Amino acid sequence: MRHLCLSLLGLAALSACASILKPVVSNDKLPAAARTLDMFKAGNDQCYDRETMGETFVVDAHNHFRPFGGAAKSMTEINQYLLDTGVLFVNVFGIGQSLPVSSTCEYYLDCVGTPALPSMKNDFVNAMNYLDADPVGTIMTISMTFPDLANPANVVEQIKIMDTEYPGMFKWMGEVNLVKQALFGNHHAATPKAAIAGWAPFMKVLRERNIPFSIHADLGSDDEPAKYLPLMQEVLYQYPDNKIVWVHMGLSKELSRANPDWHIKTMQAALDGSSYLMLDITWRVINDNYFKDKDMRAKYVAFLEKNSDRILPGTDFVASYKKSYAVYREEVLANSNILKDLSNSAFRNIALGQNYFNLTGMDYTAPQVCE
Ligand SMILES: [Zn+2]
Repeated sequence: MRHLCLSLLGLAALSACASILKPVVSNDKLPAAARTLDMFKAGNDQCYDRETMGETFVVDAHNHFRPFGGAAKSMTEINQYLLDTGVLFVNVFGIGQSLPVSSTCEYYLDCVGTPALPSMKNDFVNAMNYLDADPVGTIMTISMTFPDLANPANVVEQIKIMDTEYPGMFKWMGEVNLVKQALFGNHHAATPKAAIAGWAPFMKVLRERNIPFSIHADLGSDDEPAKYLPLMQEVLYQYPDNKIVWVHMGLSKELSRANPDWHIKTMQAALDGSSYLMLDITWRVINDNYFKDKDMRAKYVAFLEKNSDRILPGTDFVASYKKSYAVYREEVLANSNILKDLSNSAFRNIALGQNYFNLTGMDYTAPQVCE
């Protein structure tokens, strides 16, 4: 095509060729090279062209750099995945359910009965890997994933250990499990409501440091969709001034057939009642079970538009050594799919990271979208 255009140039077909030569990019392709950190720095006046620069997110606010068990991908390799998919900002989560070092399991569901519990180990490793890898071209936010929400007494003490070992490095907390049904076979139970008051000392530290807190809180299951809703409501009631991120909008594999009207109403009520609450729309389970269906998608697009300053995107990737670039790429595409239906302003807030920058206070600004 390019060849044909070049030979046509002499025939005054310039404008037609220009549009042929313009690399039109669909969501299926990732124009990673078109995106650089410079575009997000103050003073950048280049607008963002959704057609040529892609409609996948530049922020992955939910990425587990540590697997449940077994070996992890190196941070250098993950950084290359990010660069190759045009993801420039990422949250570096550990995993809230690590398997014991003595276990040969690599995925908790493969070994029901083995405890999968939070631990400081993976946070240490992430911090150490970050210092060693010194990743270039992306901005990584290192997160504390160790808190055991049912036993919060030591969390402040543990934060102090992190402060001593890695001062100033941890700028996020999570993903931490308030209730995760998938883990019930691995010694995890729903956090007792009574334990939530015990979070107060560490929640105060998070407020003082402006640290957002990503919480996994299943709403319920297909049989009982609202079974665990009161738990998250209690958290939001007790800590109205903390920046809380409700991951996956409370959805899960166990709740794959929620009534979308009920679900949207429930999320809207939570957002309306808690001005610092954000929702994360990560995990392809949501795309596959809710956003793919045409009617449901329209409802969720309207919801995202209405609350476009309260939503964070991402993959929920788990960086096991078994995964390849193709897997991460596929996660980016699947989890970004709904973003192409957004208006320019909602797209800028969610996909181009303005919400993420506002939440973290990072010195970056999402570019304006070209009209
Ligand atoms: Zn996750």
